[in-house]
Parts: sequence; C-alpha cells; structure tokens
Amino acid sequence: MKSINLPEILAPAGSLDKLKVAVLYGANAVYVGGQKFGLRTAAENFTLDELREGISFAHERGAKVYVVLNSFLHDKDLSELPQFVSFLSEIGTDAVIVSDLGVVRTVKEFSNIPVHISTQASTLNSQSAKLWKKAGADRIVLGREVSVKEAGKIKREAGIEIEMFIHGSMCMAYSGHCVISNFTQGRDSNRGGCAHSCRFEYSIEGLDTPEKKKAYFMSSKDLEGLRVLPQFIEEGIDSLKIEGRMKSHLYAGTMTKVYSEALDFFKENGNFLSDDLLRWESELKKVSHRSYTEASLVNKAGADSIFNERENSAEAEWQMVGTVVEANPESGIVLEVRNAFNQGDHLEMIPFKGENIQITANEIMDLSMRAIQRTKPTTLVRLPFVDGVKKMHLVRQRIKA
Ligand code: SF4
Repeated sequence: MKSINLPEILAPAGSLDKLKVAVLYGANAVYVGGQKFGLRTAAENFTLDELREGISFAHERGAKVYVVLNSFLHDKDLSELPQFVSFLSEIGTDAVIVSDLGVVRTVKEFSNIPVHISTQASTLNSQSAKLWKKAGADRIVLGREVSVKEAGKIKREAGIEIEMFIHGSMCMAYSGHCVISNFTQGRDSNRGGCAHSCRFEYSIEGLDTPEKKKAYFMSSKDLEGLRVLPQFIEEGIDSLKIEGRMKSHLYAGTMTKVYSEALDFFKENGNFLSDDLLRWESELKKVSHRSYTEASLVNKAGADSIFNERENSAEAEWQMVGTVVEANPESGIVLEVRNAFNQGDHLEMIPFKGENIQITANEIMDLSMRAIQRTKPTTLVRLPFVDGVKKMHLVRQRIKA
C-alpha cells in the first residue's frame, strides 16, 4: 500500500485543562487564545504562565500549539502586540493564526513564528492564497464555503499548507463579514464579542403564513465531516480543524478522539469501512450539538443546512460527570465530580483510545472512606478500581433516554 500523508487533527483548547484533555485524546495540535488579540473574549483564555505550561505539556507529548491573534485591530490596539509576539516566540509557539495584514507584518517583524491565515480572512481561491504566501503566510485556513476538491486545487496551485474545518458550529455568513451582533447587541463579532445573533428567532415582515413569520432561518446546523475524511486525505489537506474553544472538556475530548481514531484506522487499513464508523458517529452524537450537516465540504450548502429550531432543542443526551484524577489498583479511582450522580448510576469512562468502559457506581466513598449516596459537584469521590481506567479519563452519564 502506498504511504499516506495524513492531515493533523487540530483541536480547540479554551483553557489549560482542555488543552491537556485534547492532547491526551490524540490531538496533533491545539489552538488557544491569550488574554488579548483573539476572537473569543468569552472563553477562559490563557494567562502568560498557562501559555508557557500548555506549550511545554503539548511539546512533551509531540503536539503543537497555535495561538490565535485573529481579531481585527485598530492602530491603538497594536501597541502591546510586539511584546506579546516576542513572548510567544520565546516560549516556542508553533504558529500564530492571523486575519489582519497589520498583525502579519508585526509578527514577521518581531519573530520567526510561522503564520497561519485565519478563516476570518475568507480565502476562497488560489490567487488570494498566492498573495498571502507572498506576504509571509505558511498556511491558510480556508473559508468554510470552499469544498474539499477546491481546497486541493488551491493547495496545488498556490503551493501552501491548507487547513479546513471538519467539525463544529458554523457561521451563516462568511466568517468575519457578519455584523449582526454589532448592530443588535453592540458586540463586535470581528473583535471577539459575537453574541451568536444568527441563532435567535426572527420574524419576516410581509409573510402571512404564521409558521413562516417566526423562524430560526439564519441558524446553521453543525458541521460534521467524518465521512468526508477520505476526500480530505486524497486532496492532501494538511490540517483538519475542530471548532469550539468555548465548548466543554467532554466536547474537546470526544471530538478529538473520534477523528484521531478514524485517521489511525485509515492509516492502517486504507479505508474507513468498519463497524467503528457507526461507533464514531454515535460518539459524535453523544455531545451537545445541533443537527449535523456536511455544509459545503462536498456540495454547496443549501436550505437543508439550516437548523430551524430553538437552541435548547440541541441539548445533549449525555453529560460529563467528572475527570479521573487518580487510578490505582490498590486505592481505587478518585474522581473530580463536575455534575452530581447517585449510587447505582451507570457511568461511561472514555479511554484515550478504544471502546468506552462501562461501570455501575455501586460504591461511592468520600476521601475519608465514608459511603455516600449522591455526589456533589466540585468534590472528590472514590470509586472501586476498574481495569483500563487512567488519570485524566473523562467520565459521562446518559441523562436522557
Ligand atoms: S452572529 Fe452568527 S453568523 Fe454572525 S459572526 Fe456570530 S456566529 Fe457568525
């Protein structure tokens, strides 16, 4: 079988904990935000110390860290950027993700950090990719309107690394060209404040049918590209990005694990044809999501990619109950509880690779070895040891049938 160049799996890390989860569950690279210059002001974001620690944690395990600097900046915002860029260079940042030419110029002037052009720049064609390359870009994160086939052509013609989104929430607009949030909420979507106004219910004046008067007609379904993986590989796409720095630990771990396992399977077998495909799809559905769409990865996204429902209809059937902080055959499992569960509940442990481990919480103890019936969030509890369970494994529970 000819050797296959697999794309990297690039996972979101909204916090240091999530970075660790994503790396342990198989991410080849993660993207994170500092306290400034990114597009997710509501995410926890990394302090300088956390950036340093996160990069060393990832590098020790062979993963890369990209830092987002993709806000659109005014002159007054630029003054602190050189200092931050020098710091990123000193701590070994593997790349920065940038939308603004002024930021590209500053990064080039104050460091040798590779530059990735953000999807916010809406690069959709090879001429644009060539110009970014000339300006010093090493990689382009294409606009989500480009198909995988078009992306392959852009890569060949421009001779530059290409990254595409494979999973996560979508914009109804070209990313970076939407100002609904600015006008309706006073929050600038191009400077980190998007209020997700496209998810709201809107009414259309002039339509007389009641069911059309109020609708969520600007809310997109979520992107899911599992079955498109062979095409990404065939077109030589370099990096597959999972959206969602604001999403949960469970999301970061589950999505990263599914796509990494699928790529590993492809590497070994040259295809995805296995029962695992159904298992991977069922895993993707266990995390809170709107209905899935392949958006424009293969064919142009149409009306069937609209999620015409209230956001809370996308609630998860499963919730995270905690993280394993210790697993020892003698002393058992210590779990940091995130959401309460009861004695006798059925729990699912998610290993870094392979099938989930099922347990029933017949015995729950506190750390003084007193039996408890119901756990409390943010406490530590002890469960009997189960083979295969390791520190940092995530644990979840079904909450809806
Ligand atoms: S309001 Fe919606 S479409 Fe606009 S930037 Fe935010 S997520 Fe994207």
